[in-house]
Amino acid sequence: MGMTRGFTCPNCEYSAEVAGGRTFGFYAVVETIVCHDCQELHDATANEKAPDIPGEILTYEGLTGFRCPKSKKHSFAAWSDPWLCPKCETPMEEDGIPLCWD
Ligand SMILES: [Zn+2]
Ligand SMILES: [Zn+2]
Repeated sequence: MGMTRGFTCPNCEYSAEVAGGRTFGFYAVVETIVCHDCQELHDATANEKAPDIPGEILTYEGLTGFRCPKSKKHSFAAWSDPWLCPKCETPMEEDGIPLCWD
């Protein structure tokens, strides 16, 4: 099931509520991205739906459609462990209890 977690930077106090990696619900497949233009974290949704993906969703390499929600011209990378802050590159800390979104 899809999860959202809170992350906070202990250095600059930037915080975001994102999945922290790839996650999926009944239909949506979401991956956390760090946008280099916004210097923000976003959860991006894949064009593919979870039931259409063959095999293991968490390691499937053919997903398309990830983009910064602000602009498709922005450059970004997948954001995962060690969860570096997009503003100051300090490892962010996970806070609280994961929130399920479906
Ligand atoms: Zn920071
Ligand atoms: Zn952006």
